[in-house]
Amino acid sequence: MRLADGSLKTMREARQLHPDFDLTRSWALNFVPPKDGDEPLTDYLRGLGFSDDQIQYTRRSWANAACEALERISAAASIQDMTDTTAGEGDFRILAGYDTLIEHVAAGLEIHLNTVVKRIDWSGSDVRVEASNAVGDLVYRADRVVIALPLGVLQSGKVIFSPALPAEKQDAIDRLIMGVAIKLLYVFDQRVLPSGIGAFYSPHNPPMWWSPTFTREVNGEAITAFATGDWARELIALGDEAALQAGLDVLRRELGLPDLQPIASHFMNWAAEEFSLGGYSVVPVGGMNLRAQIAEPVNSKLFWAGEHTAKNPWAATVHGAYASGKRAASEILNKAD
Ligand SMILES: Cc1cc2nc3c(=O)[nH]c(=O)nc-3n(C[C@H](O)[C@H](O)[C@H](O)COP(=O)(O)OP(=O)(O)OC[C@H]3O[C@@H](n4cnc5c(N)ncnc54)[C@H](O)[C@@H]3O)c2cc1C
Repeated sequence: MRLADGSLKTMREARQLHPDFDLTRSWALNFVPPKDGDEPLTDYLRGLGFSDDQIQYTRRSWANAACEALERISAAASIQDMTDTTAGEGDFRILAGYDTLIEHVAAGLEIHLNTVVKRIDWSGSDVRVEASNAVGDLVYRADRVVIALPLGVLQSGKVIFSPALPAEKQDAIDRLIMGVAIKLLYVFDQRVLPSGIGAFYSPHNPPMWWSPTFTREVNGEAITAFATGDWARELIALGDEAALQAGLDVLRRELGLPDLQPIASHFMNWAAEEFSLGGYSVVPVGGMNLRAQIAEPVNSKLFWAGEHTAKNPWAATVHGAYASGKRAASEILNKAD
């Protein structure tokens, strides 16, 4: 990783040699409560004495992974994330692919794919869901429904609720941030990262880079760059091709390979995906209870699942989404006549 003094270090070296940097990874802070209950994470960290360099490290790692600019992230929610251990430590990859998880939870269920919900009418004694697929319009009726639409879709108003959702629920949906997330994907016909290096942080945009083919027996190398919040907005504004070129320029500079040329590249913007309309949810300052408010059932008829309804430290993840589905199912079972 590139440190503020311009030197290139492995993560282990950087953490051992630079305690100021290590603090932004370990979060071994003397926690003090945020001012007035909550404040922007930037202000909170500055209040703890973070230097400009430490703020910059936090911006490109913690905030970039949290899917929003440091200034807009809730300090109270971040402290909860930094100290929560209930979801276990570290990252894991499902080697057989995420499909296997979906196949497991979908086993035995009747799933109607490629069917777009347009309207949820909960005015009557049951719930009427209007949808359409390639064949035409459809209506589903049920005593209760679980709404697992992404936060971005809920915010867009593309699915109409009739009657409108209670004001408090709609307000919580509107206030919780749906982060902007992009990936720049490059394929090279040769290995490009130095031997033994699978990922790096850059001070430039995009800040976070890794190789999904690291340790795999493949010809060439795939490289992913990940950017969210203001980093992502800046690259999106350039347009796909210019953003890919800007990313490639950063990669060339960081690796000292000015002639590096990919054989394929792709720009992926989740905020522009019709059925996502964003990356994942982020708690704004003062928004600690928003996810719990969204998760609250309405009239014992509308139940809520999805990452944005998980408890704060679990939200914005696959395990949070999974747990939220189990929670919604048990709420329905507990309410069953
Ligand atoms: C770039 C990126 C990187 C991430 N990295 C990680 C990671 O490393 N680890 C991790 O744990 N999590 C990660 N996440 C977060 C994780 O992917 C999400 O939290 C999780 O997938 C959310 O699941 P969900 O069921 O809430 O929503 P989704 O998986 O988005 O499911 C919502 C479903 O609703 C469907 N839908 C939308 N509109 C309609 C409609 N009108 N009618 C019918 N269906 C509709 C969509 O097609 C979709 O199938 C990442 C997310 C992104 C974007």
